[in-house]
Amino acid sequence: MSVSYLTSKARPVLVGAAGRGSVAVEQIKTGEVIVAFGGRAMGRDEFDLLPEGQRSRSIQIEDHLYLAGAPEPEPADFINHSCQPNCGLSGATVVLAMRDIEPGEPLTYDYATSDGSDYDEFDCMCGVATCRGKVTGQDWMLPDLQVRYRGWFSPYLANRIAVLSRPSGQRRAFAY
Ligand SMILES: [Zn+2]
Repeated sequence: MSVSYLTSKARPVLVGAAGRGSVAVEQIKTGEVIVAFGGRAMGRDEFDLLPEGQRSRSIQIEDHLYLAGAPEPEPADFINHSCQPNCGLSGATVVLAMRDIEPGEPLTYDYATSDGSDYDEFDCMCGVATCRGKVTGQDWMLPDLQVRYRGWFSPYLANRIAVLSRPSGQRRAFAY
């Protein structure tokens, strides 16, 4: 039994050298749930002991907390990153359609909205004109992304952004 949910309107596919991705198999409307990630929550020390493949199928859910995906790949694991995505986060673990999506379209979200540490950084080959080239755990700090994904950040990142935008005297200290 899978730990994560994937809508029946999507399925995993092989995508070139990058490995696997997911595509829509029928039309998906704005706001429909694509994926709900499940797994086992753990701190960074324990998370770092997992195999790299499993870590790449996991999601950061708080400053120092990660939701580790299943040990073996599941259909829901292959929502890839794109710098111009058609899906976005709702809360820390649910992925929604940001717009109407047609059959055959790859399903993607921007990892800048979920990742706030360096556990899954890579050279991006998403191919869009606005591709950042490298995806890092610091991308949530980019001002243009903070504007573009307002309302789509994981709650812990939305909180970081809100704190950073306050006058400096009111900032709460973070350790990340
Ligand atoms: Zn890209």
